Amino acid sequence: MSADQLPKKDTHFENPFPKDLSVFRNNDYNTAMTHSENDFLILGGGIAGLVAAHAAQKNGLNGLLLEKGPMVGGVIQSEWKDRCLLEYGPNTVMLNGALMGLIEELNLQEDMLLADPKTPRYVQIDHTLYSLPLSPLGLLSTELLSIGDKLRFFCEPFIPASKKDSDESLSDFISRRFGSATLERLVKPFVNGIWAGDGDSLSAQATFPKLKEFEKEKGSVIKGAVSQQKNRNQSRIPKGLLSFKDGLGTLPRALARSLKDVIKVEEDAVGIQ
Ligand SMILES: Cc1cc2nc3c(=O)[nH]c(=O)nc-3n(C[C@H](O)[C@H](O)[C@H](O)COP(=O)(O)OP(=O)(O)OC[C@H]3O[C@@H](n4cnc5c(N)ncnc54)[C@H](O)[C@@H]3O)c2cc1C
Repeated sequence: MSADQLPKKDTHFENPFPKDLSVFRNNDYNTAMTHSENDFLILGGGIAGLVAAHAAQKNGLNGLLLEKGPMVGGVIQSEWKDRCLLEYGPNTVMLNGALMGLIEELNLQEDMLLADPKTPRYVQIDHTLYSLPLSPLGLLSTELLSIGDKLRFFCEPFIPASKKDSDESLSDFISRRFGSATLERLVKPFVNGIWAGDGDSLSAQATFPKLKEFEKEKGSVIKGAVSQQKNRNQSRIPKGLLSFKDGLGTLPRALARSLKDVIKVEEDAVGIQ
């Protein structure tokens, strides 16, 4: 964004409630839920709950989303301060077909900002910056991995797929498929950046479901990624990391506007009977 496009004053974005929803906030949701016209109840108005509610509403279902805080968005919150856009949680998301569809449904195409997919990212190890490889060729030439580590990486298609249906930590999954050096030097720094979390504690299924799916369906993450890449090359979806002119919070705010009859804020769900 160029300097003349920056907003002239700070903007603290509010979701379109609670005032719009005052009629809901005084209702008893237990009564509402037993009413035959309610088909779903979603607990939590983070992006997961909002998207689920949006999908349910699109399919003609009626229901409620209960959020314990005063506004939705969960960890995704953005605001302008001193002409700087502050992101309190995530700042970008990888664009895919499902997300593009959602953006079109919410009419947000003109607000999209896409990072150049060729922009380098760096990992700092022992006071040295290494650029993260962005392609298989880059992986072959990177100094981040030794020759032995690279061989282990490219052996991945020959590692038998796990037969277990149960989940595992992201660290276990990556070291099982690609070896521990790939985990420590490529994946962990990346995961810290995205999830602000520890790969030893994060679930592989919850953080990178696509990689687990590739292993299950193609027997290998690399094989799955190659076949996805072929489909992507033919797709109209632009590549790269996505945000919006007013930050990632644009997405939950737009969902909140389209769902305002469904959302009930300041409702801390304590149990389901
Ligand atoms: C600091 C940080 C940076 C990140 N950076 C990125 C990034 O750059 N790119 C990326 O793709 N991902 C990133 N992530 C991950 C991504 O943002 C999250 O995975 C995603 O936003 C989680 O959404 P969610 O709806 O599952 O949970 P949350 O956003 O946590 O939302 C859960 C909601 O449920 C509500 N709630 C909880 N308990 C109750 C209850 N009992 N009753 C009612 N409501 C309740 C909470 O108030 C909250 O609003 C980041 C995460 C963090 C924390």
